[in-house]
Amino acid sequence: MYDPKQISHWHASIDPSPRRPALEGDMTADVVIVGAGYTGLWTAYYLMEQSPDLKIIVLEANFVGFGASGRNGGWCSPALAGLDEWLENPTHHDRALHLQHLMFDAVDEVGRVAQRENIDFDYAKDGELNVATTAAQEKKLKKEYDFVVEQGLGDSVQWLDESATKEFINIQGSRGALYTPQCAVIHPAKLVTGVAATVEKKGVRIYEQSPVTHVEAGRVRTGQGSVTAAQVVIATEAYSAKIDGLSRRLVPVHSQLIVTEPLSDELMARTGLKNRVVFGDGRGLVTYGQRTADNRIAFGYRASYIFGSGIKDVFDADDPSFDGIYQILLSFFPFLKDVQVDQCWGGALGVARDMSAFVHYDAETKLGWAGGYTGNGVAASNLAGRTMADLLLGQDTERLDTPWVRTSGSPLTKFPHWEPEPLRWMGVQGVRTMLRLSDWLGV
Ligand SMILES: Cc1cc2nc3c(=O)[nH]c(=O)nc-3n(C[C@H](O)[C@H](O)[C@H](O)COP(=O)(O)OP(=O)(O)OC[C@H]3O[C@@H](n4cnc5c(N)ncnc54)[C@H](O)[C@@H]3O)c2cc1C
Repeated sequence: MYDPKQISHWHASIDPSPRRPALEGDMTADVVIVGAGYTGLWTAYYLMEQSPDLKIIVLEANFVGFGASGRNGGWCSPALAGLDEWLENPTHHDRALHLQHLMFDAVDEVGRVAQRENIDFDYAKDGELNVATTAAQEKKLKKEYDFVVEQGLGDSVQWLDESATKEFINIQGSRGALYTPQCAVIHPAKLVTGVAATVEKKGVRIYEQSPVTHVEAGRVRTGQGSVTAAQVVIATEAYSAKIDGLSRRLVPVHSQLIVTEPLSDELMARTGLKNRVVFGDGRGLVTYGQRTADNRIAFGYRASYIFGSGIKDVFDADDPSFDGIYQILLSFFPFLKDVQVDQCWGGALGVARDMSAFVHYDAETKLGWAGGYTGNGVAASNLAGRTMADLLLGQDTERLDTPWVRTSGSPLTKFPHWEPEPLRWMGVQGVRTMLRLSDWLGV
């Protein structure tokens, strides 16, 4: 069993949650949820909100927040994988626009839950900045700005020129930035452990160290027991490949982060960060940074895939990729060169074959599955969990008429597959190489 402190700075910076027992024996419930990350826990939360007498069991292979939910960059962003394509498609456009507004609301809803349930996860809604540091990035980000305006979403985004950008951040070589006010920042592990404790108070039972080995309609099995339940929700995102029948549905892609020691007031002033706006630049492979509540800089980059959909649980601090990430941070803020990096870690996010996030529920088998957030899952998993709760409870809400909701066929059979290896590896590597090449060539 891993020590949570090995997993991420976020877990290392909170008091360890008490460990929960493993599932032993055969149990029954109304709903069984596989995976105790944001998706599983938000689903449990909204089910209990609407139907407090439900018996809900959550089964977690390791411990709460072991996956991406306890490791991510903490951007609580209204971006959603697949949304641009749906907006561009006349068949989906209006429902996609509605979905974008639901995503804006999900950013606020995460903050409302903090208030309502009295959970402190360092939520601050100070916006998101994507800074152009090259002419090619400026062109690309301005194109993104034009696209958003064309979709009638001009209120949600601003183009800042070089001097306006400096009011927010002092990134070396900045030529301007795309600013999205409707984005928040959070402490990932405080969020996931806070929601877990909240649902437990409402009566949900969470079992840790209970990897599910088999999922079928009405039942899931672990090595030590089983849960029979009318409804089953799979919430294992990047880890889904290990579940029977789901091996080629989502590929796990790894991203990695570093965190600095707390910065002095003088150094923080030189970054220009007056509040906790999240930031990155416009390169193809996403960079993402946040000023933490205790004045560190957490900064992430990279996308790597392990042949055969392998997942790395713990990252070696000597991995040269971390130095590459540090060098990008120094290219933004060269004056941080003597600042210590306190921790390096990484995690796996799930990418679907059609690159779109989904909330899938089959009323016949009563099986649900949500994920495929492609690195934008903090706010999206909140909306996914809320939508999944609507589907499980048979509520007809405004959330259901959106292009990411799928209700035809079982998630165990009806889903686009990734190619078998080695084609899968070649495909993922190809996309990665193209993005890096276009950064390098500046096109
Ligand atoms: C390094 C990194 C940075 C990211 N940064 C951001 C960001 O800044 N903003 C953003 O919006 N998104 C970000 N993301 C994506 C976001 O973190 C994820 O989309 C989101 O956390 C997914 O939540 P989840 O609950 O679906 O999956 P996870 O959090 O991965 O949870 C799945 C859980 O299922 C458990 N599990 C797996 N297999 C089994 C099994 N067989 N039985 C029982 N349990 C099982 C796992 O142990 C895990 O706890 C990032 C992801 C990574 C990896």
